[in-house]
Amino acid sequence: MAKDDMQSSSIFCTFCGKPASEVESLVSGPGVHICNECVHTALEIIENHTKRTKFTKSKRLPIPAEIKDELDSYVISQDDAKKTIAVAVYNHYKRINYHSRIDDIDIEKSNIMLIGPTGTGKTLLAQTLAHFLEVPFAIADATVLTEAGYVGEDVENILVRLYQAADYRVEETERGIIYIDEIDKIARKDGNPSITRDVSGEGVQQAILKMLEGTISSIPPKGGRKHPEQKMVNINTRNILFICGGAFEGLADIIARRVGKKAIGFNSEASEMSKLSKGELYAMAEPEDLLEYGLIPELIGRLPVVSSLDELDAVALKSILTEPKNALVNQYKKLLEIDNINLDFEGGALNTVVEMAKKRNTGARALRAIMEEVMLDIMYKLPSLPNVESCTITKSTVEDKKDPLLTFKKSKKTA
Ligand code: ADP
Repeated sequence: MAKDDMQSSSIFCTFCGKPASEVESLVSGPGVHICNECVHTALEIIENHTKRTKFTKSKRLPIPAEIKDELDSYVISQDDAKKTIAVAVYNHYKRINYHSRIDDIDIEKSNIMLIGPTGTGKTLLAQTLAHFLEVPFAIADATVLTEAGYVGEDVENILVRLYQAADYRVEETERGIIYIDEIDKIARKDGNPSITRDVSGEGVQQAILKMLEGTISSIPPKGGRKHPEQKMVNINTRNILFICGGAFEGLADIIARRVGKKAIGFNSEASEMSKLSKGELYAMAEPEDLLEYGLIPELIGRLPVVSSLDELDAVALKSILTEPKNALVNQYKKLLEIDNINLDFEGGALNTVVEMAKKRNTGARALRAIMEEVMLDIMYKLPSLPNVESCTITKSTVEDKKDPLLTFKKSKKTA
């Protein structure tokens, strides 16, 4: 009931007590009234509650196919990685929900290792997953981590970030997801002349290992260094899902050597190996390859689920521009739609963006940078031009910074 429709002075919100005259609208039921502000508050309470209980109720745990479906909406190709992640995550939350012991069988945590070139969607997969599951998520870069006490970032700071992402709720933090990027960069490098670097790399691996295994870590809630007088928060990492990712430059050679050795005597097979793409070789990665690469065996042991991501070809890159829910092209379209301008990209324009991106060798990462370069001038000029109805980006807009094709609305006088 809108306030105009009622005797506003005699009706009050049953929840906050405000009179109808002081609120925008009031809904009435038999003997009760609720104002728009209280409806809002109630909705927030319900949403928060749903979030909190979403995965504590096993019946609401999404099955692997549902998880993969969701990943499909945001991440192009990488089917194997998606399936592996979907199953690992399903088992992970099942383990948490049913406790880690079923009929005397210990169910171990399935932390995940993603191997694949830069810009192929490793972080995006982890991020999409956390968003879908509505669990807190934090990203850390292994290269800036150091052992406690060294200059750099303490490994425990990752937990601080997760704790902050969980709105400072311990219980939520303890069921979150942490993505550790560039895990390959802290590998021991045999033959590396800098002995100190090797040692610290291994030290960081040990520190990460402790978290992966499950430990109770006391963290300074606001981050930074620990001070004796600061109150600490204890976080148990036992149920935190860790996803580690890295490009593992050079791993393909290690795998090819191993697989090739096995094929000794079968020359044709050995030469077949050399024809395999990097992606195909990555897909054959075994723990012993990671060991040879320089990860410590205990850490490899704690990352039992290994999956590889393929290099993205031109078709995949083009799909990334247009298909995912938040595809770049859709984002720009939406931005211009607000100014009532219809934005279009000719097929040739997108193909050129893809060609340029391929040359940069940074996977899909380059797409955004190139699109930004193309769109910057256009987004600057368009709002100053009156009556633009549509804007079409052509191949030469991308290639030579030529003006896009514009059409204009007929002014009312001539219409
Ligand atoms: P990395 O593999 O290096 O972790 P990211 O996941 O950070 O790569 O990808 C960088 C950006 O490129 C993402 O934000 C996303 O926009 C895009 N991207 C990368 N791979 C994909 C993919 N397979 N599908 C859709 N977008 C992708």
